[in-house]
Amino acid sequence: MKIQRRQSVVLVPHPFQGHLTPMLQLGSILHSQGFVVIVAHTEYNAPNYSNHPEFVFHSMNGGLQGIDMSFPSLENIYDMNENCKAPLKDYLVRMMEEEEDVRGDQLACVIYDNVMFFVDEVATQLRLPSIVLRTFSAAYLNSMLTIFQQPEKYFPFKDSQLLDPLPELHPLRFKDVPFPSINNTVPEPVLEFCRAMSDIGSSAATIWNTMQDLENSMLLRLQEHYKVPFFPIGPFHKVAHSTSSTSILQEDNSCIEWLDRQAPNSVLYVSLGSLVRIDDKELIETAWGLANSEQPFLWVIRPGSVSGSQCAEALPDGFEKMVGERGRIVKWAPQKQVLAHPAVAGFFTHCGWNSTLESICEEVPLICRPLLADQLVNARYLSQIYKVGFELEVIERTVIEKTVRKLMLSEEGKDLKKRVVDMKQNIIAGMQTDGSSHKNLNDLVDFISALPS
Ligand code: UDP
Repeated sequence: MKIQRRQSVVLVPHPFQGHLTPMLQLGSILHSQGFVVIVAHTEYNAPNYSNHPEFVFHSMNGGLQGIDMSFPSLENIYDMNENCKAPLKDYLVRMMEEEEDVRGDQLACVIYDNVMFFVDEVATQLRLPSIVLRTFSAAYLNSMLTIFQQPEKYFPFKDSQLLDPLPELHPLRFKDVPFPSINNTVPEPVLEFCRAMSDIGSSAATIWNTMQDLENSMLLRLQEHYKVPFFPIGPFHKVAHSTSSTSILQEDNSCIEWLDRQAPNSVLYVSLGSLVRIDDKELIETAWGLANSEQPFLWVIRPGSVSGSQCAEALPDGFEKMVGERGRIVKWAPQKQVLAHPAVAGFFTHCGWNSTLESICEEVPLICRPLLADQLVNARYLSQIYKVGFELEVIERTVIEKTVRKLMLSEEGKDLKKRVVDMKQNIIAGMQTDGSSHKNLNDLVDFISALPS
């Protein structure tokens, strides 16, 4: 259902790539439903305005003064939450006053990323309805909540327990605890931060970049806890129909021409997303694993992603010469286009939630190399529940070589491919007129339209 009168929504994204992208995609979805979309963003990692002429942008100037977000820490994220309060509040107050004067678009609500938890306080002060956007999987939030509720059941754990199942959290093991731990316990400030991120304050509802068809039981369990309406309307990147780039880094499109020259279903795409870092030992093991697998590969080595070195300089001597045309290395790829390319047969990934959804939606099976937080949960679901990925437990060149060959060449690899094709069909069905995501989106539009102004 399209809305009758123009209502505006203010979106407040978190400025990291994996958060900014789904918020902008949500903006495109809401814009296509008739809403005026205003994006209130930080100066750091500001979206490229020219890629989104359909949005109104507002920079929360001063929100990040003195904070170096390129080194994300809990302290920085708390400071950002504190410093952005005044700029957002001033802006919303101005909007509300103007609305009264000129009777323009009606401000319906503020939608904020769960890491920007300050927004709930600002919206409550102004008596504006707010809605939380969850950019993670429901399985991840469920694991956090289960652990918060009884941390003594989980911490500290012993090294000997690492492969034991986490109570009530099948298929997770102690080594998959999705929090950074020190000496097998999780520091209280980390738990505190994750609690803040999980809390919804007085927000009226939650929007999810996931699907009922994929995570229904988990969503039902979480809804019992939060007691507000849930709107799982994903996968955003498919529902949004937008082809605009949301990349913060410059995409190297030359890799598409390289893919055009490769045989169908032959290339392994390798990328660990926008945030995590590996050490140079892992880079070298990965390099030899890829080289020795003898499979063509496209590898994203993001600047700053290898501790202590700039991009590809830590690669073994002679590596690029040895792999020649069979391997291509770029600093940042147009990932959705890459995954949709007929030459791509597999994805060696850190299992960020966006990458996970993008891969499934292009029927690309995975090699899971999670490093932290939700990636650990997603990797277990992909490998143990959905069975569309092989988990890489040991970062060693012979293991990597074997796993790549298993994915690309073996019968087991073909089974993964069949399952990911089925998974994609289910997800696409959810987007059809009588599907769950489609229906939930209609309900969301009705819900926002009926919010008290
Ligand atoms: N991405 C991209 N090009 C790259 C690597 C990643 O466009 O070379 C995009 C990818 O498509 C995804 C996002 O960056 O939308 C990464 O988000 P994800 O949740 O997978 O991981 P994060 O970066 O948050 O760890």
